Amino acid sequence: MLTACSDSGTATSPVAPASFVEAIAPGAPVVKEGDLAALSLEADPKILRSHTFSDGKVFDYVEYQGNVIDGDAILGTVQGLEAQFVAYEDELKSAKAQGIKTQGAMTNRCVGGIYFGACVSNWQGVRWPKPYGQSWTPVYYEPLSNLSSQGQQAVLSAMTDIQNATFQHILFFQSSSASNRIYFTQNSDAPGVTGGCFSPIGLQDGRQQLNLDIAGCQDKGRAIHEILHALGMMHEQSRPDRDNYITINNSNLTPLGVQNIGFKYWDRDMTEHTPFDFGSIMMYPQTLNDPQQKFIYNSSQPLYFLNVSLPGTVNPGQRDGLSASDIATLNMRYQ
Ligand SMILES: [Zn+2]
Repeated sequence: MLTACSDSGTATSPVAPASFVEAIAPGAPVVKEGDLAALSLEADPKILRSHTFSDGKVFDYVEYQGNVIDGDAILGTVQGLEAQFVAYEDELKSAKAQGIKTQGAMTNRCVGGIYFGACVSNWQGVRWPKPYGQSWTPVYYEPLSNLSSQGQQAVLSAMTDIQNATFQHILFFQSSSASNRIYFTQNSDAPGVTGGCFSPIGLQDGRQQLNLDIAGCQDKGRAIHEILHALGMMHEQSRPDRDNYITINNSNLTPLGVQNIGFKYWDRDMTEHTPFDFGSIMMYPQTLNDPQQKFIYNSSQPLYFLNVSLPGTVNPGQRDGLSASDIATLNMRYQ
């Protein structure tokens, strides 16, 4: 899975085939057992449902009167969800036919997608492994010869920042032979993806591409953003609690924009440990210059509206460096 990032404020939005973009596999259940216990105290009949996919993944959900619910929120109809199950099976077949790796990366797949506006994230499935007995996690990358000298400098600075922020619990090693490794490009060779900044989410079990287009992606902040994707981090505006803080301008989003900006991920692990952070390097800016209408139809209209007032010191969409909560999340996952 690739997540495309047109958050540079430039016109470098990538074009990605549907099978590559934000394909999120079922992992964690939408409603946990503890939630069900609470629900059962209520009078209305709610039914726990479970669906098992052909790849063995299980998706649990709660049905109430033909709708899929999470707490007091209606996520969509059961019929709509079942259509997404069928679509997921089709994507599994398609990925297999194209030779796209589905292990690991596809543990994050959107279930419900546009219907439900919610996805399931199982970051553990895409975590880079920490060798037994070691206190640090190695992340391998091929020599940066595909990048301009500016791009190489950006990547090396980004890696240094990440290593320092995690107190060396994440260490980057150059290798052309490690079984899992990132290769950096500035001219995408992913099928149908012509440019932009993008990365898979987390470890993909093999050789995975991270693209930093020479137009707008080759600075330290954008390199950090994409490397964090490769380490398994999602966009901040995709958090399940984001509607408390922003209102997505849905009418301005293209289908690709919905996938990159509109979806929410049920990443409870992250949500329960760090507050929503407008200053995260994984947060999109409020506005985007997107004349090619890859993500939004009208660049003069925002991606989202603010539901809260922000101090002047907070700059949503900053790409200067890791925020305190970015660092906390990284350390929680890779300690
Ligand atoms: Zn991104």
